[in-house]
Amino acid sequence: MTGQEIKNLLFLLGEEPLEALTARAYAQKCELLGKRVALRGLIEFSNFCRKNCFYCGIRRDNANVKRYRMTEDEIVAAASWSADRGYGSVVLQSGEVPSEENARFVARVVSRIHEKYGDALGITLSLGEQSEETFRLWRNAGAHRYLLRIESSNPELYARIHPCDHSWQARRDCLRMLKRLGYIVGTGVMVGLPGQTLEDLANDIVFFADEDVDMIGMGPFIEDPGTPMFNPALDDATRTAARRTKFDLTLRMIAAVRLTLKDVNIAAATALQAIDPDGREKGVLAGANVIMPNVTPRAYCAAYRLYPNKPCVHEHAEACRGCLESRLKAIGEEIAWGGRGDPLHFGKGKA
Ligand code: SAM
Ligand code: SF4
Repeated sequence: MTGQEIKNLLFLLGEEPLEALTARAYAQKCELLGKRVALRGLIEFSNFCRKNCFYCGIRRDNANVKRYRMTEDEIVAAASWSADRGYGSVVLQSGEVPSEENARFVARVVSRIHEKYGDALGITLSLGEQSEETFRLWRNAGAHRYLLRIESSNPELYARIHPCDHSWQARRDCLRMLKRLGYIVGTGVMVGLPGQTLEDLANDIVFFADEDVDMIGMGPFIEDPGTPMFNPALDDATRTAARRTKFDLTLRMIAAVRLTLKDVNIAAATALQAIDPDGREKGVLAGANVIMPNVTPRAYCAAYRLYPNKPCVHEHAEACRGCLESRLKAIGEEIAWGGRGDPLHFGKGKA
């Protein structure tokens, strides 16, 4: 992007009135993608993780987390539940586990789902950084999309929110590897990290454009008490006000991405709903076109807690489905039932 375009981005992120900005972005979304939202059934199949990201509630050193991994049959059943109810796509997500045993486990699960539904059901993975061999194994098993947030495009900010053995370059290289292997690639950032500037956020959008990714997921950073980034000194009122600021800033980021990158898929992240019960709908009205309802069995859902106030942990996935449908209807949006909902951007290459 040119210097002028980056200045324009900074204006969108900081100065244009929020309502006017989101209205423009929503009009862009409707023009390009219609008044339709694609759903992905999110299966959080394991909370084991080798990493220790300073912000994440399921980080390795959080001893209060009850660790679990769903069985192959349970994961396939959750994917089938989603497919049978018209979700055109599922996302398998977990902590980062580098073992060969885990690579083979995931490959078996993906093959079983793919054999059952073929190309009628999209299979997206979000399992952290892995070796090229593992990414290839999963691709050959039938996975076709991969989500790996860069968390921040600023390597210095990244270094401040991770232990020193976590590498920004390694993460960026994984994104490039995934693209070479033919995955539809998604990335994203957390919004409202301590020390993050508007310039960092503008550069995040430049990063998305430079890496030519097809899907973007951005959510507000929410402090979790089980992590080093939790600030116990904040009183409730200050914490609530800070969350609201991050929420609005995330809507600004969604709108700015829709207006600049246009035909990418943008997810309205669950973290928006953790701050505001209407968070996902507000994300759609700011330009997002994807929602990932949680279809993880409720016995596991609460143990996959990245931050406090995780939505829908007590409701059955069936109830969530009905609730989401009526909520979207109320804002004049319909659900794009069936169909994988691949991003329009995919395969076009960089302009
Ligand atoms: N382990 C994989 C990885 O890191 O890519 C996938 C699962 S990880 C839990 C998914 C995303 O959750 C991360 O990329 C991060 O952006 C987000 N996340 C973790 N902790 C968070 C927090 N406290 N607030 C907001 N988002 C958070
Ligand atoms: Fe593990 Fe992902 Fe959480 Fe980092 S963000 S601790 S890699 S689950």
